[in-house]
Amino acid sequence: MKADLHCHSHFSDGQHPPQFLMDRAVANHVTHLAITDHDCLLNCSGWKIPPGLTLVPGLEISAGWRGMEIHIVGLGIDAESTPLNDYVSRQQQLRRDRIVAMDKKLSGQNISGLLEYLQSKPCISWTRSHVAEFLVAEAHAKDMQRAFKRFLRPGGSAFVAAQWPEMDEAIAAIQQASGIAVLAHPGRYGLTRSKLGRLMDDFQHSGGDAAEVSYGSINPVQQSTLTTMVQERGLYASAGSDFHSADRQWTDIGRFPGLGSAATKNAIWAHPRWHFD
Ligand code: AMP
Ligand code: MN
Ligand code: MN
Ligand code: MN
Repeated sequence: MKADLHCHSHFSDGQHPPQFLMDRAVANHVTHLAITDHDCLLNCSGWKIPPGLTLVPGLEISAGWRGMEIHIVGLGIDAESTPLNDYVSRQQQLRRDRIVAMDKKLSGQNISGLLEYLQSKPCISWTRSHVAEFLVAEAHAKDMQRAFKRFLRPGGSAFVAAQWPEMDEAIAAIQQASGIAVLAHPGRYGLTRSKLGRLMDDFQHSGGDAAEVSYGSINPVQQSTLTTMVQERGLYASAGSDFHSADRQWTDIGRFPGLGSAATKNAIWAHPRWHFD
């Protein structure tokens, strides 16, 4: 079994359609794939799922924690769940409102056309990545990194802060849809070890189930720290590439270190709500 439980399609800020992700997963010997678009539920009826691949329904929710933004992946969710669909609709509205506010800021800098650009794309969830792509396409930035730095990060000239609901609300929405709530890429929030411990504690006290201990660009020291932190709290361990695109500097599907023997007992597929062979 090789599971990649975190990646993005063009329905949020990934570059490729789900079919591309599924085919690439098979080519890279992945047996279980979760497409976890930002604040976005996918209806996979009608998809051609390649033989040998199991799709795990998922999404990635942006949430607040002590004034910061964190991401929570939901796995094995019932994509028909009314409370989760309502939650995601509210997130998508927040995202649209935020992009409209960014568009206003850009117009003030004589940059127009963002909303038309977004409307021409297949995306359902509007993200800052789309704004960065637009700025690069219109030659206002050389590349995505520069677009983020100059315009889209806090302090950037088009930055608008997001007002996401708190972490416990995201966890509850995932669990109401029978899903497993996973703290995404804990090492990417720039936290000290003690603050990371506090995040994991709060996540667990809010009923969270698991945390990612392996993902693209993680090093062995970080992975072993995260594995220990997860085990100390009785959380389950998950892993995923966070793949967005084959052309950019993103980790490929399935190309991240395995959970390792230390994490096999509490691997996410041992979770009582995991029901994928
Ligand atoms: P949003 O959720 O709308 O704030 O958009 C955040 C998305 O932008 C993330 O999911 C990343 O895919 C992408 N992102 C964030 N920071 C950068 C960066 N410095 N360079 C490129 N992409 C980034
Ligand atoms: Mn993204
Ligand atoms: Mn994320
Ligand atoms: Mn992601």
